[in-house]
Amino acid sequence: MSDISYDVIIAGTGPAGMTAAIYAQRMGLRSVVYGDLPGGSTYMIEHLSNFPGLLPETSGPQFGTLTFQQASQEGATFTMCLLESLRRADDAFLGVDVNGQRVTAPVAIAASGRTPRRLEVENVQIGGVHLCSICDGPLYRGKDAILAVVGGGNAAAQHALTLSHIAKHVYIICRSENPGIDAAHRRKLAEKLNVTVMLDSEVVALKGQSMIEALVVKQSGLGSKEIQVEGVFQAIGWDPNTAFLDVTVDKTAEGYLKTDGRLMTSVSGLFAAGDVRDTDIWQVLTACADGARAAKSAGDYLAGQ
Ligand SMILES: Cc1cc2nc3c(=O)[nH]c(=O)nc-3n(C[C@H](O)[C@H](O)[C@H](O)COP(=O)(O)OP(=O)(O)OC[C@H]3O[C@@H](n4cnc5c(N)ncnc54)[C@H](O)[C@@H]3O)c2cc1C
Repeated sequence: MSDISYDVIIAGTGPAGMTAAIYAQRMGLRSVVYGDLPGGSTYMIEHLSNFPGLLPETSGPQFGTLTFQQASQEGATFTMCLLESLRRADDAFLGVDVNGQRVTAPVAIAASGRTPRRLEVENVQIGGVHLCSICDGPLYRGKDAILAVVGGGNAAAQHALTLSHIAKHVYIICRSENPGIDAAHRRKLAEKLNVTVMLDSEVVALKGQSMIEALVVKQSGLGSKEIQVEGVFQAIGWDPNTAFLDVTVDKTAEGYLKTDGRLMTSVSGLFAAGDVRDTDIWQVLTACADGARAAKSAGDYLAGQ
């Protein structure tokens, strides 16, 4: 059976992949898109915030469905499963999906997002346990809430700083004695009277029925204590989804794909867009912008520009 050929293979059906597909099609590039859910990570968003022009009533799944319809109307081909591998084969990229179907294209866009690590404790699915402070922090505005951030890096510090403007008090619960928070973030945290950093402390249980009510924290040498909270934000890391890339490509120490100004990776013809690439903002809007840029750059690359 011969491989089906396209102009561009897009891995990911989140905002970055969908936007890349829309732009690629409108530029006359035949695109094939792989992914599990229309909208990618947006399926987790109850109220999609920070997207100009969209009312906060819009849910992530609604947004995902609309982008899927739009890309389909532009003529993109969807294969709703993950790519098992993407590698170089002669002058093209060869994509093989989890069902063994093969496609080739001269350019490819990795828009495969990243997977959040979650606390490994019971009850982690109950209400009030979040992943994104920019997105979900405003739910607590005006409520005099006590919130906790679990994690010990700059991301945890950033979440706590964001939440410090909203909450009555914010606890950062950090497993290590020496958190990986840089000097600039430490300085800003020290200025916040409503932020307490708990070192050497591990969350061992989340208490509550449908909504979080308290955390049980085990402190090294001090035993366990319960902290009443209205919300918890997990900042214990993310894993960029790059395992399917069967190519030698430059990544950051955290595993994000490095890109140049055109969003091309170190592999000629392989572009990256959205949360999977090296960036410092992980939002729907910026993922969409990346998708548009990557598709434009892919078109220019094919035209030899
Ligand atoms: C709980 C939560 C709430 C959020 N709320 C907001 C908000 O209100 N506003 C906002 O702007 N942002 C919000 N975000 C962030 C936003 O969802 C992401 O920044 C955005 O979805 C990133 O888009 P993306 O296309 O880069 O990646 P994703 O949306 O993660 O999409 C990547 C897709 O690629 C798929 N994939 C992975 N591997 C492969 C493979 N091998 N082959 C094919 N496909 C693959 C993944 O399964 C996924 O479906 C929130 C995030 C979370 C977790």
